[in-house]
Amino acid sequence: MSIVIVGTGLAGYNTAKAFRKQDSDTPLTLVTADSGRSYSKPMLSTGLRKQQTPADLVQAGPQDMAAELDARVITDSRVVAIDRRGQCVQLASGDSIGYHRLVLATGADPIAPRLDGDAAGRVLQVNDLDQYEVFRDAVADASRVLIMGGGLIGCEFANDLAEAGYSVDLVFPEDAPLPRLLPERPARALQTALEGLGVRVHTGVTLDAVNGAGDGVVARLSDGRELGADVVLAAIGLRPRTALAEEAGLRVAQGISVDRHLATSDPAIHALGDCAEVDGYVLPYVAPLNNAARAVGATLAGDTTAVTYPVMPVMVKTSCCQVVAWPPPEGVAGAWQGDGDGRDLRGEFRDADGVLRGFYLTGSRIRERMAVTRDMPPLLGDQ
Ligand SMILES: Cc1cc2nc3c(=O)[nH]c(=O)nc-3n(C[C@H](O)[C@H](O)[C@H](O)COP(=O)(O)OP(=O)(O)OC[C@H]3O[C@@H](n4cnc5c(N)ncnc54)[C@H](O)[C@@H]3O)c2cc1C
Repeated sequence: MSIVIVGTGLAGYNTAKAFRKQDSDTPLTLVTADSGRSYSKPMLSTGLRKQQTPADLVQAGPQDMAAELDARVITDSRVVAIDRRGQCVQLASGDSIGYHRLVLATGADPIAPRLDGDAAGRVLQVNDLDQYEVFRDAVADASRVLIMGGGLIGCEFANDLAEAGYSVDLVFPEDAPLPRLLPERPARALQTALEGLGVRVHTGVTLDAVNGAGDGVVARLSDGRELGADVVLAAIGLRPRTALAEEAGLRVAQGISVDRHLATSDPAIHALGDCAEVDGYVLPYVAPLNNAARAVGATLAGDTTAVTYPVMPVMVKTSCCQVVAWPPPEGVAGAWQGDGDGRDLRGEFRDADGVLRGFYLTGSRIRERMAVTRDMPPLLGDQ
């Protein structure tokens, strides 16, 4: 028996930890295309104001992780194919590694913006430690940063950069920030708080082109305006990495399709984290992947366990106006009701039967989180 995990992000390493809690004997191998350093990805968007270097964010190197997990950790090695019949993965080097059980924890790719202009290739993205390093170097001598995207990552970087003293423009096509998490009123409260930090928030527009101008760039917006910047950061969404699974003939929808046991359409192969769609849900956050890691770790150790998803509110680390939100499931009919003043708001979304299905808390109201979530139905309950 041998287990192979592809990916050493939070999903890969946390699966290995959960597995080793119950099984200290079975040979375990982790393979990763990156350096295998263990770090907490959410820290990437709060590192500048704390002056954290990439090295500061590393919790353990691959050798330490190998020792802790009693595992082989193979770094800088991309898996290019899965041979399901032969039960082995093929590496870019030509080597192959056999498995009895395979876990795909390959994460997601940031969506690349489609831009015109001779400096479109200079637009940066931050979805891992290496990209954070490039971004940090780029802003070291810069003063003006333009951010594309008003979601969690765009807003957190805007907050972080503004607090670190940068001049920040935040550009997105929706009417208000965090469109997937918040209704209008709390979203406006966040926008006002970001503006209070000095962030210039440009709603209802897209970035069309980026052209070089001296050491910096000029970005053209869809309404014809032009903004100067030294660095442009795109944070316009993620796409689960499904190519390996798809090419191996596994079922793929928005992510790699898995059931409550995190099993793909091949029972010898599991998937979790940002690459996976668990029972129809793609939730690219830490709490869901930790629940999945515990379940799949136990299952691999012989204790077949279904994942449960309680209410797992998303915490947005915008210190100017913290947000905790759990949006209602798509397609559920109901209405929002809110109270509060300024940036200290609470709202609840109840469905047609009066059941609480979603909520938001902002500012000082985030401390009400436990009380709000207590009675909410789980997304995936006990089986
Ligand atoms: C800036 C930022 C802030 C965030 N803040 C929060 C937050 O506050 N709260 C929250 O809940 N979530 C947050 N998230 C999301 C959260 O960090 C992710 O959901 C989580 O880290 C994903 O972990 P993962 O292991 O699935 O993927 P990743 O960390 O992307 O790991 C994927 C791994 O797979 C490897 N890999 C991929 N393809 C191959 C291949 N073919 N062969 C070998 N290896 C491969 C990669 O090298 C990597 O090791 C944030 C994300 C970002 C980018």
